[in-house]
Amino acid sequence: MSQQVVTRFAPSPTGYLHIGGARTALFNWLFARGHGGKFLLRIEDTDRARSTPEATQAILDGLAWLGLDHDGDVISQFERADRHRAVALEMLAADKAYKCYATQDEIQTFRDTARAEGKSTLFQSPWRDASPDMHPKDAPYVIRIKAPREGSTVIHDKVQGDVTIRNDQLDDMVLLRGDGNPVYMLAVAVDDHDMGVTHVIRGDDHLNNAARQMMIYTAMGWPLPVYAHIPLIHGPDGKKLSKRHGALGVEEYQKMGYPAAGIRNYLARLGWGHGDDEFFSDEQAKAWFELEGIGKAPARLDFKKLENLCGQHIAAMPDAAVLHELSEFLAVTGQPALSAEKLALFSEAMYCLKERAKTFPELLDKAQFIMVDRPIQPDEKAAAHLDSVSRGILSELTPQLQNARWKRDDLEALANQFAEDHGTKFGKLAGPLRAALAGRSATPSVFDMMLVLGRDESIARLTDAASGGS
Ligand code: GLU
Repeated sequence: MSQQVVTRFAPSPTGYLHIGGARTALFNWLFARGHGGKFLLRIEDTDRARSTPEATQAILDGLAWLGLDHDGDVISQFERADRHRAVALEMLAADKAYKCYATQDEIQTFRDTARAEGKSTLFQSPWRDASPDMHPKDAPYVIRIKAPREGSTVIHDKVQGDVTIRNDQLDDMVLLRGDGNPVYMLAVAVDDHDMGVTHVIRGDDHLNNAARQMMIYTAMGWPLPVYAHIPLIHGPDGKKLSKRHGALGVEEYQKMGYPAAGIRNYLARLGWGHGDDEFFSDEQAKAWFELEGIGKAPARLDFKKLENLCGQHIAAMPDAAVLHELSEFLAVTGQPALSAEKLALFSEAMYCLKERAKTFPELLDKAQFIMVDRPIQPDEKAAAHLDSVSRGILSELTPQLQNARWKRDDLEALANQFAEDHGTKFGKLAGPLRAALAGRSATPSVFDMMLVLGRDESIARLTDAASGGS
């Protein structure tokens, strides 16, 4: 049996969950879930000055909203510092690392001299091969790895291909600082190893780190994970994504009312592809996702495409799921929750609301006829449809509707007959009817609204409009 796939998402909690981070998490989640593996979550909170609990919470909330569930406990990198230290000491004992007593001044002098002589300025410590009895007593030291000086390190990257880095470009990096604290690079390698991570899928800004992390694996005799460094996301203009391009944090997408399934689908397509497939379900994405399908070029954000996919997902979602996510949308945007009565109407109307709504605000807009209560205040456009002529028409039509069977065919037939009797088309009646039923001029079809509202409420609204204002 082949080894179980283990992936991880390892964000630094220094801000919101970035859209790029969300895509990295999604790729790791898809890959793990599609291979019957595990998707782990590690918070890289070793930078105490920049890490905040609020940022950790924002990341957890963002992942939860996106539906990217992780396995096991959330791991805090900071809390594992003792283990990182222990590994450094193990490497020291195995002669894979050494104590370096060089002072900052000495390192600077080394660099200045090397520069003047036109040589590499990468520090080469005189302590690398010094015998322990040469070590000064009580002097501060750092622990450095004994990096290979000859040859090269090749990262067999699933996205970038083979990336070769000459070992003379890599210095004896510090593993433990003078204060005994582990460096970030050590923490990542140790954690990935201990967590059993088999595939490291992350942004290509970490490609150079891979060579350094591999040195630690090699020194410890650990099997290497598979690396896949994915290109960053660019703005629609092809430039590096920045604030200027608009929403960066996933919570902003939630607040704009995009459904999470649409975001997942869109982010999956951002830099990865399965033939020409644009719209797909999570199940399909999990089954199809392979590292080989990840493109090498930076992907560009395309809001049109995002909206288009979101619309298709809203239409395809089960009604209950739409209502659930709509309620969450109302909560995060500080809007009042739907009453039980409105929820029931929403459920009934869902079939005509779901079509062509790309976001929850658009869905709510279509649902305005449910949201409003009598007496309905028409907006300006709708009010223009309720002049004295149309009110006269409504007062004539309403009693006829009152006696009709409350079925689509009957209502349609009646309205068409009424229009014909008045030498006009039903289209001419639609404006006043929409205004009366919803207080709006853009609404679902008049018959859909009447069927959802029911006879009594519809007749009451039509009667209000027929008799209303001057
Ligand atoms: N903490 C790093 C970041 O947020 C990711 C490190 C990694 O994936 O190895 O960019």
